Amino acid sequence: MAAFDTNIDANLSLEVRDLHKSYGSLEVLKGVSLEARQGDVISMLGSSGSGKSTFLRCINLLETPNAGSIIVHGEEIELGHNKHGAFRPKDKRQVERIRARLAMVFQSFNLWSHMTVLENVIAGPVHVLKQPKAEAIEKAKAVLERVGMYERRDYYPSHISGGQQQRAAIARALAMDPEVMLFDEPTSALDPELVGEVLKVIRSLAEEGRTMVVVTHEMGFARDVSNKVIFLHQGLIEEQGHPDEMFEAPKTQRFHDFLANTR
Ligand code: ADP
Ligand code: MG
Repeated sequence: MAAFDTNIDANLSLEVRDLHKSYGSLEVLKGVSLEARQGDVISMLGSSGSGKSTFLRCINLLETPNAGSIIVHGEEIELGHNKHGAFRPKDKRQVERIRARLAMVFQSFNLWSHMTVLENVIAGPVHVLKQPKAEAIEKAKAVLERVGMYERRDYYPSHISGGQQQRAAIARALAMDPEVMLFDEPTSALDPELVGEVLKVIRSLAEEGRTMVVVTHEMGFARDVSNKVIFLHQGLIEEQGHPDEMFEAPKTQRFHDFLANTR
């Protein structure tokens, strides 16, 4: 049983060990590990195609890794071969449970267009967490207030700005009260003038002690807000450490060059 596995550190919010993922002959992740303690804000950096999205999608089981372990607050996701020989999570209910603990915020917001902001936010709590609707609405109002979207709660996504949509998506993730929040380039699809309002919300969540893994190209955010930085290159961690050290004195030529190209 996972709880008695002496190798599992239940103090970690999220532990990923030696994750591998291939698409056909293309090996995208070649053994990536990560440890997130409660309150950690981990920025993942890397050029386009280095495997950042694939890594987040594997953690959240939107993709099945080919090998490796994912452990969420001491609970290891059971992966194995099904009767057709495919490598898959063994237990669908566990997948639902784990996904609810790891709320993801996507680059493209991914709000349901036929639902208002409020309806988007309560959908997970009502359908996945089985909260009574009235309770879910009360909690949703509080998280919408938290991201400055309370006034827009009855709007449909197409009637609000990209920055507002992304803040609504963050509210939707927050409403699940997740163990870890996963962000995949949350500001990359936004017009430049809307980036600030979204970063401000993410920054305030970090200051509140939310555990998060943030794939980002915002170097200022990575430097100021995160306490760990992981630089991915072609499916492997090329360099990682505290942002102060990494940004002051990159140890690898590749991270040095990456920084030079983003400045
Ligand atoms: P990043 O987010 O760092 O830009 P991705 O994880 O999106 O990188 O992609 C890493 C590599 O995996 C790229 O070469 C991409 O083309 C490939 N890839 C991603 N998803 C798929 C998929 N579903 N099928 C085939 N190849 C994929
Ligand atoms: Mg990506």
